[in-house]
Formats: sequence, structure tokens, C-alpha cells
Amino acid sequence: MREAQRIANLPPYLFAEIDRKIAAKRAEGVDVISLGIGDPCEPTPRHIIDALCREANEPVNHRYPSYFGLPAFRQAIAGWYRKRFGLEFNSETEVLPLVGSKEGIAHIHIAYVDPGDVVLVPDPGYPVYHAGTILAGGISHFMPLTAENGYLPDLTAVPADIAARAKLMFLNYPNNPTAAVATAAFFEEVVAFAKEYGIVVAHDFPYSEITFDGYEAPSFLSTAGARDVGVEFHSLSKTYNMTGWRIGWVLGNPEVIEALGRVKSNIDSGIFNAIQKAGIVALEGPQDCVEDMKRIYLRRRDLVVRTLGELGIKVEPTRATIYIWFKVPPGHTSASFADLVLEKAGVVIPAGAAYGPSGEGYVRISLTVPDDRLKEALDRMAQTM
Ligand SMILES: *Cc1c(COP(=O)(O)O)cnc(C)c1O
Repeated sequence: MREAQRIANLPPYLFAEIDRKIAAKRAEGVDVISLGIGDPCEPTPRHIIDALCREANEPVNHRYPSYFGLPAFRQAIAGWYRKRFGLEFNSETEVLPLVGSKEGIAHIHIAYVDPGDVVLVPDPGYPVYHAGTILAGGISHFMPLTAENGYLPDLTAVPADIAARAKLMFLNYPNNPTAAVATAAFFEEVVAFAKEYGIVVAHDFPYSEITFDGYEAPSFLSTAGARDVGVEFHSLSKTYNMTGWRIGWVLGNPEVIEALGRVKSNIDSGIFNAIQKAGIVALEGPQDCVEDMKRIYLRRRDLVVRTLGELGIKVEPTRATIYIWFKVPPGHTSASFADLVLEKAGVVIPAGAAYGPSGEGYVRISLTVPDDRLKEALDRMAQTM
């Protein structure tokens, strides 16, 4: 058997690797606490689960769903954007439901990237931007996100010949893994850059609702001209604790939506209708569940920032996301620190370098574990330092 070169080029998926390490430690009898993947430990809100149970009993929902999602779900997405950002989208031509946003983020490459084409990928960044590029035969040009530039890529540092070969650019604010947020001025710069070079901008926006201290995350699509060049990926995963349900969407430029829809209709068959109907209930139902989660993450953020501070690691309180990104103690690489914490404390924290070369020297903590486990993990970490 001879595997295709494109999968030989693929790095192992970060969290699949971490799962393997956790399993090995647990097999040794270690009580491992994972601050690894951003996967909410609280259940999906009751009213959304009830909607799924109700709809799962309806035979009409058991047949193939539409490739392009239920019209009512697309309308609920458009309605949510109207309410949340004051933006109007045509639910037939500008909205496309996805089997989780990871699916669409991986497949948009199939629509835009030919072998040898360049994709502008934030470094560090969500691993799928680069993996999708490899699978399409493209070449990632990494855009470093550093503390000095506020974790916003310096577009003037992208060489003109690279920009000319670029078909697609990924951005993600509020950001995973750095927890940084974007400015309006930066989004304006992105639109001008994308227009100059004819680049499709894919803004990945799953943390729009997880914000603190009065901060509100702007939609990239509210930037003047953004809808000419880009789309926004979104998801119910993080907002409503629905990571396992696999439901998200992409919305924005109708040409991009149509192209991705053409790819998807040839590959998958849409999201289970009962899940889409529960998704409508999530978007249109009571939103106090979102406020409850924000309070929980805020409490955990404060605990982590305070504890790290006591250990001499200074972290600015984050304004959004479920992550804390911090510099490892002097004398460590991100991998040596992550290994130390796993070996000595039984705590899993992903090495920053796993998100891209500019992540070297950093690690990421996820706030998606119960408070008592988070406290215990921090106590154990403190003893190793
Ligand atoms: C969690 C996450 C996603 C994936 O969300 P799904 O809708 O569950 O596939 C995409 N991008 C980023 C940056 C994420 O952190």
C-alpha cells in the first residue's frame, strides 16, 4: 500500500497526540488533569437538549438533510447576526451551515487552493488552517503573531511575490491560542490588502460571545468592504457547549459561499435535521446560558492570572476566549516545560510551538475544566516550579 504524499506531509493532529499522552499517563495510574483542548466541561443547556430529544423522535428528521442546511436554520443564523451585529445577510446566498466549523475551514482550501498556491496562515494558529493547505497541495506562508505586534500579523512583512501567489488568508479574533483581540484599524488594513492582491479572507470567529470586562468582539464583516473579500466561520460549539454536536456555519461573500457549497455537496450530506432544529433553539432561545458560561470563564481566568502571577509569571487579564497564553519560565522551551508539567504534575498543557514556530517559548492553558480541578492543576504546577 502506498499512501498519498499529501498525507505523508501532514503533521500528526495536535490533540490526537495529546490524547495519546494522556492515555499513556493514565495507564500508569496518574490522575491526569488536562488543560489541553478547549472543550467545555459543562453540559449543553437543557432547553437545547430538550429540543434535540423532541426532534429526534420525528421521522421527518431521519432522512437526508439538505446539502445547504434547513432554510429555517439559515434564517436563524441571519437573524442572530442581525440582532448581534446589526448586519443583514441573505439566508439563501450568504449563509451555509457546516458540520462543525472545522469541516468548512478544512474544505475551503479545496475550493480556492491549487497545488503551489499560497495560503497566509497565522502563526501560532488553529492547526486546521495549515493542515487544509497541505491537503490541497498548497504552501502555507506563516504570519508571526508576537507579543510585540499585539498578536496581529504584520501584513507589510508579507513579501509582495508571496502576496501575489496567495489565494486565501486565515484570521481568528478573539484568537486561539493567544486570546488576543483585533482592532478595527487592523481589519481595515486586511480588507485593503485582500483587495490589492485578490485574496479571500476567512475570519474564524468561534469565540465572539466569550468576552469579559465589557469587551464586545467585532465581526470582521462589519468592516467596510469586508463582504467583498471575505467570509466568517462560526460555530455553536463554544458559545453553547455543543462541541460534540458538530454544527457551525460560514457566512459572507456569496461567491465564496457558493464555491464552498459546491465542494461540500459533493462530499457530505449536511447536518442531522434534529440538530439543526436544536440549533435554531440555541440561537433564538434564552441567552442567559451564555452569560452563565462567561461568568464561569471569568472566574477561572482570574484564578489562573492570579496564580501565575504568584509564581512570577505575569499575564495580562484576557478580554476574550477560554485560553490563557503565557511565557514559560526562563531556561525552558515550550516543549520542555509542557513535558515537565506532565511528568511532575500530571497536568497537560499544550506547548505553544505546536501551534506554529512563533509559539515557541509559550504554552496555553484552557479554562474548560471544573474550578476544583483547575485549582488542583495550578497547585501541582506550582510545586514543579
Ligand atoms: C474550536 C475552534 C474551532 C472549531 O469549532 P467546531 O465548530 O467545533 O469545528 C475552529 N476554530 C477555532 C479557532 C477554534 O478554537
